[in-house]
Amino acid sequence: MVIDCKHVWDAISSYIDDSLAPETRELVQKHLDHCNICSAVLDSTRNILILTGDDRVFELPTGFSERLHARLDEQIRALRPSQDA
Ligand SMILES: [Zn+2]
Repeated sequence: MVIDCKHVWDAISSYIDDSLAPETRELVQKHLDHCNICSAVLDSTRNILILTGDDRVFELPTGFSERLHARLDEQIRALRPSQDA
């Protein structure tokens, strides 16, 4: 099974929470090892979570997900302007 960047972005908050199934976690980990975009996304997602309250990762504010995804889309476009996101 191969996962692409979109799958990693969907899974990334669970990855940070450590709530992914072990096999999914492994796939995400492998992807992160070779994908600079997702590594950057992981870093900035962690920063956002820290800013919004590090011990309340499971209780994200309403709209957080939408804002996060909008932000990720923005970042990915900036990092990868010539490819289809
Ligand atoms: Zn990726």
